[in-house]
This record gives sequence, structure tokens and C-alpha cells, in this order.
Amino acid sequence: MPKSATAKPADRHRTPATPRHYAVIGAGIAGVACARTLRQAGHKVTLFERNEVPGGRMASADTAFGRFDSGAQYFTVRDPRFALALEATPGLCKRWSANLVRVLDAHGRVAEAALPSLEAHWVAQPGMDALVAHWAAPLGDSLITGTQVTQIEPDALDPQRWQLRTAGADDSQHVYSGFDAVLLAVPPSRTRALLGDGKLSATLSRKIEPVRIAPCWTLMIAFPQANQPTMSHLGPQWNAARSTHHRVAWLARESSKPGRDPIERWTLQASAAWSQEHLRDTPSRVEAKLLRAFAEITGIHATPAHAQALCWSEAQTQVPLGQTHLWDAKARIGVAGDWCTGHRVEDAFLSGLSLALAVI
Ligand SMILES: Cc1cc2nc3c(=O)[nH]c(=O)nc-3n(C[C@H](O)[C@H](O)[C@H](O)COP(=O)(O)OP(=O)(O)OC[C@H]3O[C@@H](n4cnc5c(N)ncnc54)[C@H](O)[C@@H]3O)c2cc1C
Repeated sequence: MPKSATAKPADRHRTPATPRHYAVIGAGIAGVACARTLRQAGHKVTLFERNEVPGGRMASADTAFGRFDSGAQYFTVRDPRFALALEATPGLCKRWSANLVRVLDAHGRVAEAALPSLEAHWVAQPGMDALVAHWAAPLGDSLITGTQVTQIEPDALDPQRWQLRTAGADDSQHVYSGFDAVLLAVPPSRTRALLGDGKLSATLSRKIEPVRIAPCWTLMIAFPQANQPTMSHLGPQWNAARSTHHRVAWLARESSKPGRDPIERWTLQASAAWSQEHLRDTPSRVEAKLLRAFAEITGIHATPAHAQALCWSEAQTQVPLGQTHLWDAKARIGVAGDWCTGHRVEDAFLSGLSLALAVI
């Protein structure tokens, strides 16, 4: 992990002159970075997450054959502020010697062995979700999971503040009130919807309008038969590849990542164009098509013991916002997420951090 020059304790709390109560929506890495920073500055924070666990697109799927990183595969560290935050989690993230190549065509022809990369690839252990879970832990009861925010509206008792309407997994409805500001750290389509198409902040809605983010079909497959003593290694010698196959953009051997189960497991990510074209396909049709592509690229024709296809409707930014965050001080609404500047884990972290610092 790159060392930063000025390491300080990560969870030092201060007492602000005017403590405020912030609602943060979305417990991906952007929302958690934002909420933690506000907490460390001494403010009260309530973080709402639709899923049962934090992590967002840094997700892991548990199966009988081991874990898969179903979203982000690894992260890179370019900014000293991200490096500093990671220094406070010793042992949680490990360098992945990915043995990365570029595969050129549908016959698995390798264009470049060992893709030149000056950057280290890092993964959290035992799965990518562990990093966000670790950073969210100090928030305790301030993190409310399984709760989707459906509407932001003026507080019924104090119009200078905001209240949030929420829906639980069991369709239970609640209203949380008394927020001095609301900070959204959710993908663009949800941001647009929660901003009520300009009703809450016309400025924010107008700025977000051009942002575009592509979907991604992901396939996770396991071959426990490859680990039998009579068989040595299944498929290619490389562990990860960027691919120009028309269906597949990325594939990686999950079992090659540090701290993972040794059972042979692969994760494939379809290209943005193919994912968009096949957005309405069923998971079983997508599974069959991606399995064929996998066999063409890797030469592995065995039937996997486990296969699961899932679609991320908003995965990778195509047109970013072009600035780290948005903060409408008059409306007291802010916006963060990877899509503000890019499509990487680090972009999301820095966006959440910069929004919190702007608000403070
Ligand atoms: C398939 C795939 C592969 C990727 N590979 C890489 C990679 O290898 N390296 C890399 O650096 N990046 C990768 N990324 C991108 C990386 O995952 C993202 O940049 C980062 O995780 C985004 O974080 P975020 O906090 O901005 O958003 P998210 O992680 O999307 O977090 C948003 C959160 O908001 C929650 N939410 C949404 N609406 C509501 C609501 N109304 N109420 C409450 N909660 C809500 C969601 O459930 C989610 O938890 C990949 C992404 C995908 C999908």
C-alpha cells in the first residue's frame, strides 16, 4: 500500500461549533466515506442503505464453492488521502498479483502477456465487501440497512429541515425527520429520482442530467472438479484478462486472489455494449451465451458445478459529471458517487470524502 506522509488516527472525533444532523443515502464506499468523515468532525449522521449490508458495488457473493467478487474486482490507489484511509485497516487489503493479460479474439489468443501495469492491484479479504463493512462498523446504529429512501421532503415540523420517507424489505414505511442536510451517494438514476426531477434542487438536477452509466452482466462460475488431485490446473496460465471478445470485457480467476478459497472459480464481466443490448435477457439465456464465450476465450469446456448470472443496471460510468461532488448550500442537498469523476472505487471514496469536507 503506498504510504502517505502524514498518517493520523482515522477515527478522531472533534466537536464542531454547531453540530448538525446529516442524512446520507447509500452505504457504498462513497456514502460510508462521507458519513465517517462527518462523524469524525463531530456531527450526527444517519446512513440509509437499501440492501441488508453495506458495500454497494463492492459486493461479494457467498456460494457453496467459495466467494465471488460480484462487483468491483480490485482497486488501485493513486491519491494520498485514499492511501491514508487504507493505512488504518492493516491486514484487511492485500496486493493481488493478477498475472493480467489482454486476450485478443474469440479463440483466447493473448495479445499481450503480463499487461504492463505500474499500479498495484489491491483486494479486500475475504471479499471486496469487507473494506466497506469495516469502515461502516464504527457507525453502529447510525447505519440503517434494509431501508430504501423513497422520498425527500421538507420536515413537517420544521420546514428549514428535511425528512425522508423510507420503505423496508417487508414494505414497512417510515418517516425519519430533523435533518439539517441530505447527502445522496447513490447511482445517477436514483439520484435523479430522489431529487424529484428538479423539484428539490433545479441546479443539481440540471448538472446531473448529462451523466451516463452503463449496465454490466456478470457471470460467476465454479469448477470444483479442477481441484481433484488427478487434475492439476484447468484452463489458461493467466489469472485475469481484459478481453476484446464482443461479449466479454473482463474475466478473472477468483481463486487466484489472496485470502480466497482454492476452488477454481471465475468471474466474467460482459462488455458495456453487449450488456446494454441484452439488458432484457433472462439470466439463464445470458449464462448460456457468456459460458460459450468463456469456453472460446479460455479453452475450458467443462460444465461448471455452479453458475450465476446477475445484472448491474448501473455499473460503469460512460459520461462522468466532471467534478468530485455537488453541494447546493441553499437547498442543503449534496451529491456524491464514483460517477462524479470516473468509474473506480477510489473515485467513489474521494467523492464521498470531498462532499463531507465541503459540507463541514
Ligand atoms: C461489475 C462491476 C465491476 C467493477 N470493477 C471495478 C474494478 O475492478 N475496480 C474499481 O476500482 N471499480 C470497479 N467497479 C466500480 C466500483 O464498484 C464503483 O466505482 C464503486 O463501488 C461505487 O461506489 P459508490 O459508493 O459510488 O456507489 P455504490 O457502490 O453503487 O453504492 C450506492 C449504494 O446506494 C444504495 N442505494 C441506492 N438507492 C438507494 C435508496 N433509494 N435508499 C437507500 N440506499 C440506496 C445501493 O444499494 C448501494 O449500496 C466495478 C463495478 C461493477 C458494477
